[in-house]
Amino acid sequence: MSAPATKTDHDVVIVGAGPIGAAMALALRDTGLRIALLDSQPLLENPQPLAGADFDPRVSAITPGSQALFEALGVWSAMQQSRVSPYTHMHVREADGTANINFCAADIHATALGHIVENRVIVAAMHEQLRQQPRLDCLMPASVVALDNSPDAAVLTLQSGRQLSARLVIAADGAQSPVRHLAGFNTREWDYEHEAIVCSVRTEKHHQQCARQIFMDQGVLAFLPLAAQGDEAGHWCSIVWSVMPTTAQPLMTMDDKDFCKALSLASEHWLGEVTQSSKRFSFSLRQRHALEYVNNRVVLIGDAAHSIHPLAGQGANLGLADVQALSGELALIGSTGRDPADPILLARYQRRRKPHNMSMMLLMEGFKRLYAGQPLPIRWFRNTGMRAVEHSPLIKNQLIRAAMGTHV
Ligand SMILES: Cc1cc2nc3c(=O)[nH]c(=O)nc-3n(C[C@H](O)[C@H](O)[C@H](O)COP(=O)(O)OP(=O)(O)OC[C@H]3O[C@@H](n4cnc5c(N)ncnc54)[C@H](O)[C@@H]3O)c2cc1C
Repeated sequence: MSAPATKTDHDVVIVGAGPIGAAMALALRDTGLRIALLDSQPLLENPQPLAGADFDPRVSAITPGSQALFEALGVWSAMQQSRVSPYTHMHVREADGTANINFCAADIHATALGHIVENRVIVAAMHEQLRQQPRLDCLMPASVVALDNSPDAAVLTLQSGRQLSARLVIAADGAQSPVRHLAGFNTREWDYEHEAIVCSVRTEKHHQQCARQIFMDQGVLAFLPLAAQGDEAGHWCSIVWSVMPTTAQPLMTMDDKDFCKALSLASEHWLGEVTQSSKRFSFSLRQRHALEYVNNRVVLIGDAAHSIHPLAGQGANLGLADVQALSGELALIGSTGRDPADPILLARYQRRRKPHNMSMMLLMEGFKRLYAGQPLPIRWFRNTGMRAVEHSPLIKNQLIRAAMGTHV
């Protein structure tokens, strides 16, 4: 595609300044491209060292691969100063204790398998870095309400009535992606018929920097270690409890005391009694994948392209890998004047990311089917599989490296 005849305000407009869109803007800051970033929410305040037990309910298990990108973007140290929680172990087990797998950072000579980081810590560190980029046009808050995706230029209309033209629009506006809808992308969607309940909880026993997951016939329960201070240190976890809607409804409405009791029981007192719970949030679990990532002058990244079951803990990591792939392609263009919506370039991005994202989603679908099954042969198969992995250091190490985003 040759450069459009129409004069545009920007080479690239990124819609969405969540973890993925903000990372994209920072990754493109030195390319010489004229970039604008917009979000319906304002820029977050400076990251502060956080001390209390007031945790963001949405957290990400950041792999060393994603951490390396944060370091390159200059935001990792601000996250560390604010609050991150390394995990050195990962324990996965069947509810009735018939099988388990244990991963340990020391087995692969690493200091940690990853870090649990609250989304607001990620975003605040990125927004602080964005404030220091005079060449980046940050339009926040500003909501996109309409899009004209024509061959010459993409024109975005904001709620204020203002129009912005760009040679390329990068949609990083999350799982519901208004831009994806406006540009007419098709998606393939799977409904899990499950709700995820998320909150932070205090547990009697110390979490020992271990991420725990229990697979039950009715769903999955994850305890992700959080960093608290003083006497509370080691006693707070972020939980994701995926259950059927009929089970979620009473769990959401019961009082904190009963919820803590139900959670202690479901976790088989793995961390002793659950003694305190923050406000609970719930949402329907839906896996969604865009059939194509590129449509004319619009390209999808992050949750706008793929939203995946949180069981994998891979959502943000997959999005950050999209950022690496697409920013790598766009960096080749820089200030050469070549069109950033060049179909060859965008097709290369899609080829690099779609099969990988797809395979992760299929893996999650396989897990879901395996664990939705009650029949004995299925139980036997998954228990045997889990034990086989536990007793095979080679497979285990490969799995750890893949989960850490350091697999080659
Ligand atoms: C319960 C839960 C647990 C998770 N756990 C993990 C985990 O352990 N590890 C992991 O890697 N991932 C995890 N994820 C997934 C991870 O949070 C997401 O993959 C990640 O936040 C996606 O980032 P994003 O920037 O693509 O989208 P979002 O974070 O949704 O950001 C989208 C941005 O777009 C903006 N926006 C939307 N519409 C408009 C509009 N019209 N105009 C302008 N701006 C707009 C929004 O304001 C928002 O800032 C989890 C998700 C959930 C829900």
